[in-house]
Amino acid sequence: MAEVVEQEWGVDLISSWNKHGWFTMANRVGAKMAKLIGAKAHEVMVADSTSVNLFKVVSAALQLRPHRRIIVSERANFPTDLYMLEGLIRQLGSRHELRLMDHDDDISASITDAVAVVVLTHVSYRTGRMLDMAHCTQLAHQAGALVVWDLAHSAGAVPVELNEAGADFAVGCGYKYLNGGPGAPAFLFVAEALQDSCEQPLSGWFGHAQPFAFEHTYTPASGIQRFQCGTPPILSLVALEVGVDLMLEACQQELRQKSVGLCDTFVALVQQECSSWAFQQVSPNSASKRGSQVCLAHPEGYAIIQALIAQGVVGDFRAPDILRFGFAPLYISYVDVWRAVQQLKAVMRERLWDREEYRQQSAVT
Ligand SMILES: *Cc1c(COP(=O)(O)O)cnc(C)c1O
Repeated sequence: MAEVVEQEWGVDLISSWNKHGWFTMANRVGAKMAKLIGAKAHEVMVADSTSVNLFKVVSAALQLRPHRRIIVSERANFPTDLYMLEGLIRQLGSRHELRLMDHDDDISASITDAVAVVVLTHVSYRTGRMLDMAHCTQLAHQAGALVVWDLAHSAGAVPVELNEAGADFAVGCGYKYLNGGPGAPAFLFVAEALQDSCEQPLSGWFGHAQPFAFEHTYTPASGIQRFQCGTPPILSLVALEVGVDLMLEACQQELRQKSVGLCDTFVALVQQECSSWAFQQVSPNSASKRGSQVCLAHPEGYAIIQALIAQGVVGDFRAPDILRFGFAPLYISYVDVWRAVQQLKAVMRERLWDREEYRQQSAVT
């Protein structure tokens, strides 16, 4: 980043767009990410935020199914996904309907031939439950629907094979397991076969066929390029590229093994060390059905997480009562897991969570 600021921007200024490859950087980083999610290099683009990308790809999917009126998603999906769908439906004149499945619902029963698109999150942010991507995609396709996968808690955390699963669209964050830094740009995936047959509504100049022709009317670029909107944040892209490069140095299969090992160890140690307290494991026990996180429920979850953070074990709290522990397999060690459980035990045994300072709710949990 220092080099980009001091040399590229500092010396070469706007000529860096050509000279230092800034103009194609969103594609270059996307192509690298493609390797982590089982996609082709020209099917992935870095742009905007996950929320905005979801809006773009669901709009595109709806265009491909103009006679169908239903969008299916999960009630327990990450709220921004549902909010964006609600907003899109309003924007399109409220002719579509959002059908929400509950956790135990039979997904095949929800996907009828009136369904245009199914929006699913691969690894649940609240429970860590991982869906079978190939199976769900197949069910949707059998009913003639398209699928949008949210990979926020999958990319860089678990192996993803979008092409093998036959996925249509996907979105995800750069700032979770991809280590792009806070607010890093997000990514989107559009299957090659669909790219030129749909458009997205945020028709900004970076998605134009010839942005520097400065034409008066919009002509979409071909391929994934049309899913860009405005000028990409180069400094953020540079930071994200470093995170993705580091991840690509590791063998993805070994990363998965390490992630499973860390999570299994955490589960076993919590059972062994913390059985005196009312923790309830909400993540699946079986590693094959779980992402790289373990979530526990406890009525004092918020205060416990605050007390743990004060001890240097940084987890998340997710309302109403979930403690979420994410295990980034590149750099979290088994010793870290042991220490985290010992701290959790100390917080409970010494009732550290019961202090006033840990009960004050901050804006971000
Ligand atoms: C974290 C997360 C997001 C975040 O969306 P932003 O637009 O990047 O803030 C979206 N969806 C899911 C499933 C998430 O876990």
